[in-house]
Amino acid sequence: MPRLGHRCRYAVELMPMETRIPNFVAESYGELIDFNFFVVESSTSSSGSFSFTLHADWRNEKVGFNLELPSTWQSGLGIVRFLSLGDISDRMLLALNDTFATNLSPSTMAGSVTFAAQILDGDLANLTERPSRMKLFFDHDDDDRSAEIYLNLDPPARIAELCEKSDLCRSAMILAFSPTTSLPDQEMPCCAQCGQPLRTDKARQCFACGADWH
Ligand SMILES: [Zn+2]
Repeated sequence: MPRLGHRCRYAVELMPMETRIPNFVAESYGELIDFNFFVVESSTSSSGSFSFTLHADWRNEKVGFNLELPSTWQSGLGIVRFLSLGDISDRMLLALNDTFATNLSPSTMAGSVTFAAQILDGDLANLTERPSRMKLFFDHDDDDRSAEIYLNLDPPARIAELCEKSDLCRSAMILAFSPTTSLPDQEMPCCAQCGQPLRTDKARQCFACGADWH
């Protein structure tokens, strides 16, 4: 009869994978949001590129994607690709958009989304063996559509996190993952006298308070 402590530890190791999949949205007390993932699989190709399959739970459904780091890094700079896994990635996009409460309505994650990346901590030769931390950048001609986020990878502990760097690029993040999402209508200017929105962006008269600047 093994000791109780021994049995507990044994049980944890045998715990089915599904029960170790974390909630997508981390419990957070700050204004920035962290997203948790379970590292389902990590691998290194013969060419030295890395691949990670990341899953999380959102409202009792699986969300996730594949992360690929091609072996093209130099001086700590490189790229990270988010690859869609189909339905579960589309659902992750919806979960992200819901959590960010943007005014966008994305539906499908792009097949492959490339971020520029800078390693902050870790060993690029042994990404599957040790924890690492990276800053990811999505560059766009339109500054409003550029985004940054942190990626923490700990394959030995089978944990990965995406951590917001700023809450100002939430819409940009959604548009990065789903570039075909239509942009919301331009907001109408407001009346200088009463503050109500005008009917068109060329209006010379406010129908709410009657102000007229013809
Ligand atoms: Zn007015």
